[in-house]
Amino acid sequence: MPLTACPEMHELSLCEGVLQILEEQSGIQGFLRVSRVCLEIGALAGVEPEALRFHFDAVTRGTLAEGAILEIVAVPAQAWCLPCGEKVSIRQYFDACPQCGSHQLQVIGGEELRVQQLEVE
Ligand SMILES: [Zn+2]
Repeated sequence: MPLTACPEMHELSLCEGVLQILEEQSGIQGFLRVSRVCLEIGALAGVEPEALRFHFDAVTRGTLAEGAILEIVAVPAQAWCLPCGEKVSIRQYFDACPQCGSHQLQVIGGEELRVQQLEVE
């Protein structure tokens, strides 16, 4: 269940996106309540976990996910290193390759958010 983060998108709209996914899934899977949401956030998504929690509580009030626990898992970004010819993990834009120190990296992932797991009732 991926969600695309873009630079203009702030935490509030992301939370609305997450809620939308929960509501869709409740229709598909037939659950009524969500008690826990595990959200994967790429290191390059530029999302502030504390702001996300704050908005999540506000956005889910009065919905199927009211009071749900929001678990945030930070995932490292992936880049392709030209000199190494392989995928490496980076923490931020313009990081050097952890293996060879090169800056010839092409970012290939890490800007996305993903609902990794749900606990439902
Ligand atoms: Zn390298």
